[in-house]
Amino acid sequence: MSMESYIPFNKPHLTGKELQYIEQAHAQGQLSGDGPFTKRCNAWLEQQTGCKKALLTHSCTAALEMAAMLADIQPGDEVIMPSYTFVSTANAFVLRGGVPIFVDIRPDTLNIDEMQIEAAIAPKTKAIVPVHYAGVGCEMDAIMAIADKHHLLVIEDAAQGIMSSYKGKPLGSIGHFGCLSFHETKNIISGEGGALLINDERFIERAEIIREKGTNRSKFFRGQVDKYTWVDIGSSYLPGEIVAAFLWAQMDEAKKITQKRLAIWHAYHGALLSYAREGVMRLPVIPAECKHNAHMFYLLFGNLDMRTRAIEFLKQRGVLSVFHYIPLHSSPAGAKFGRAHGDMAVTNDTSDRLLRLPLYYDMTEADTQKVIEVLSILF
Ligand SMILES: *Cc1c(COP(=O)(O)O)cnc(C)c1O
Repeated sequence: MSMESYIPFNKPHLTGKELQYIEQAHAQGQLSGDGPFTKRCNAWLEQQTGCKKALLTHSCTAALEMAAMLADIQPGDEVIMPSYTFVSTANAFVLRGGVPIFVDIRPDTLNIDEMQIEAAIAPKTKAIVPVHYAGVGCEMDAIMAIADKHHLLVIEDAAQGIMSSYKGKPLGSIGHFGCLSFHETKNIISGEGGALLINDERFIERAEIIREKGTNRSKFFRGQVDKYTWVDIGSSYLPGEIVAAFLWAQMDEAKKITQKRLAIWHAYHGALLSYAREGVMRLPVIPAECKHNAHMFYLLFGNLDMRTRAIEFLKQRGVLSVFHYIPLHSSPAGAKFGRAHGDMAVTNDTSDRLLRLPLYYDMTEADTQKVIEVLSILF
């Protein structure tokens, strides 16, 4: 296998404007956070999602941690979430002493099964954390109705969901909070990066304080107080201006990036549909009310053996594919800090059978065709 013919699983995309904006940030003299580039990114997110307030953070993990503080999670409080997700979804709440209650996923979208949420609610339940897997929206109408009825907060883990929507509403703008990621494995990137979207005004002032080390520094800069001081718990959750300048170059091209990814996604889907109809594997399911961002293209094989064989087959022919997640309820920390509600049958099963194909902006048509060709030989 020669290096030229090798197709990686992911390759971070550069728009070409990153260095120009970083140079501007350098020249403007402010390198710490909340300078002109951070403000531009926040404003873009507010316009793009319609949230009441967007605050850039240094990661989605940081945004989730801020949301856990804003939700006032106390030791023993329960938080309902899927087990089929990245560790940060749970960790953010465990850091506050919260207990993740893992609920199974739907077999079609692989999102939290909204029909199983209500049975997992107990007197100590404080919040629900839907994760929009692959940038495809959870059944948010049902989830918001359950949260309303039981007076729970909803924190959307929209790490994979930038430029996606559910019934016309951008992901991250539906619950009380939305958490986005700009990690280099996501669609719009800044290396490490994220944002907290606040959709309920009551939380804005405290969010600014928590993000600025527990001080009222933001108010000070707006001239609303004449000195700033320590007023609450908090940490340093904001990125520096260099990172924000990089991110601004990406936001500028968010539409173009999404369109290109969607084109690759549809090429895969169209070419593999006939194999799926034969029952060799199944393709992603996108509900009619969801517009997605082509964050991911996955295949669901019949069993673990078939998936293992597929990974090896692709690798031998120069195509790198990956699987995830090890369900949180069966990980050492998940078993220690959390609890599964129900048998988790779909989660366990999916974790064994799912395979992610290469999907990145700079994939050429020839790259996509090669992946499809190798898969056709396998099938
Ligand atoms: C990537 C991801 C995160 C973490 O994002 P970071 O920005 O790396 O902290 C959290 N949740 C989900 C579902 C993710 O995919």
